[in-house]
Amino acid sequence: MFIAHMPAGFLLSRYLLKDERDEPSYIKYLLIGLIASIAPDFDLAYFHLIDARQHPHHSYWTHIPIFWVGIYMFLVYPVYKWLGRTGIKLLSMFLLCGLLHMSLDSVASGIKWLYPIDKSYYGLWRIPSVYDWWVANYLFHWTFVIEVTICSIAGVVFFPDKALRNDLKYQFLVWLYQIRPSSKLMDKLVSTDSRSE
Ligand SMILES: [Zn+2]
Repeated sequence: MFIAHMPAGFLLSRYLLKDERDEPSYIKYLLIGLIASIAPDFDLAYFHLIDARQHPHHSYWTHIPIFWVGIYMFLVYPVYKWLGRTGIKLLSMFLLCGLLHMSLDSVASGIKWLYPIDKSYYGLWRIPSVYDWWVANYLFHWTFVIEVTICSIAGVVFFPDKALRNDLKYQFLVWLYQIRPSSKLMDKLVSTDSRSE
């Protein structure tokens, strides 16, 4: 998968957080799910900058489900002690969004789902390397239709969600205000806040 990871993570996180929508930290919670949905691909930095593309990036631990489950199990108790039930919910969401990423990577590539018992990559289809520009391999493969479909569904869910869009705008203005306070920004903040009532 190439462009659908974050939209898919958005749909899953939004669903998992349906009871937290009115909480002040809702956007931050949602952000945790979004980060988790692309977190496995953080290994691309290692792949390009340090490993000099020596190994397929799906071979790193960041793309191996058992490591995610292991880290989850290791963290469950401390997170529960520290942050209680909300912490467990967010940690579980992080795991699920990470596993969703790997599931999507299994559509047009492979993931070591049974590692360490079996070190093979499991996936439905493989995108052949036809074009020099690797992005073109994704764009012109039929599985890109699946990606576009996921992105479209996420768009259909996101854009009519006025409360979420307003909340995002508000958080963005708060962030801008913290960097460079101005009376103009403050006016905008007040009008955005009153619209969300
Ligand atoms: Zn990936």
